[in-house]
Amino acid sequence: MDTGLYVHVPFCVRKCGYCAFFSRPAQPDLVAAWFAGIERELAALPAGFVPASVFFGGGTPTALDERDLARLLDLVRARVDLKNLAEWTCEANPGTLTPAKLACLRGGGVDRLSLGAQSFANETLKRLGRIHAADETRAAMAQARAAGFANVGLDLIYGVPGVARESFQADVEAALALAPEHLSCYCLEIEDGTPFARAAAAGELAVAEDEQRAQFDWARGRLVAAGFEHYEISNFARPGRACRQNGLYWSGGEYFGVGPAAHSHWAGARWGNVPELPGWKRAFEEKLEPAAKARETLVMGLRRLAGWDRADFRAATGFDYDALRGPEIARLAAQGLLTVDPDRIRLAEDALFVSDAVFAELV
Ligand code: SF4
Repeated sequence: MDTGLYVHVPFCVRKCGYCAFFSRPAQPDLVAAWFAGIERELAALPAGFVPASVFFGGGTPTALDERDLARLLDLVRARVDLKNLAEWTCEANPGTLTPAKLACLRGGGVDRLSLGAQSFANETLKRLGRIHAADETRAAMAQARAAGFANVGLDLIYGVPGVARESFQADVEAALALAPEHLSCYCLEIEDGTPFARAAAAGELAVAEDEQRAQFDWARGRLVAAGFEHYEISNFARPGRACRQNGLYWSGGEYFGVGPAAHSHWAGARWGNVPELPGWKRAFEEKLEPAAKARETLVMGLRRLAGWDRADFRAATGFDYDALRGPEIARLAAQGLLTVDPDRIRLAEDALFVSDAVFAELV
């Protein structure tokens, strides 16, 4: 099975109001310390690690300046055997991209760009605390194409309190007008410790779940009609453009994550790094017992619209899913939340928006 490398680039120009990911401003001392840690972790990768995908995520990888981006690319190429590489993704914030950074990324081997558009309404972008305006996303897309990126994804956020359905629909249309290969539509979540969580606690921000669901259902229909495959709860792709790295996480595959807050899954063990800078350590390491790991793989794989094929699940985990969770699967099927065919299970359409509740029953 393929393996992947994730590099957490923990820098952002400014914190968005809803975001709980670990990131700090790209101060030179923090960037230098981060490079030292990344170098150490890359040097410790096992010799047999030959990833099929690399993913720079964050944070905002493109908050690094051009020289540091080039250094990061050189470091990965020097330390990692890339002979099997089929996909190299970099996340980017439109407010931090320049033609020079794009040329540097493309020249260094990155072939997939994931642009955090989030919305095309400047009012919504401001509400979310984004640093960019809609025109910067349009410019970034044009610059990415000019730099030779043939595989570009756009992220959108739906269900933002105070944003009308029509406005989100216009976001989707604006995204489609840019002809991306991939679209992610994430539901706004109120994460603990964020300004949005404080506003919600103070009664200043009310999430309307019915409205969120209506926006999700509309987007799904619209994107499928536009020729995108809905392949994971929040993800849509042109044929052949599904994200390989995320596919690994959803299929129980193995990967190394380097950087603060990054997670790894390798040789039956799982560990995660502490979200800290300048230095970071391993936060935990665990060896899941096989049945618990299989249940987790079951749930992760059900995020994909295709769900699990019985034989694939057995090959991935050593278990039959009915032996693991037969009564729960039957109950969820009776409730119309799982679709059960003789040799495949998958989320029913009605369960896509409430998948967390379904997964809680299965894990
Ligand atoms: S740019 Fe991305 S990672 Fe940074 S604060 Fe905003 S949402 Fe979070």
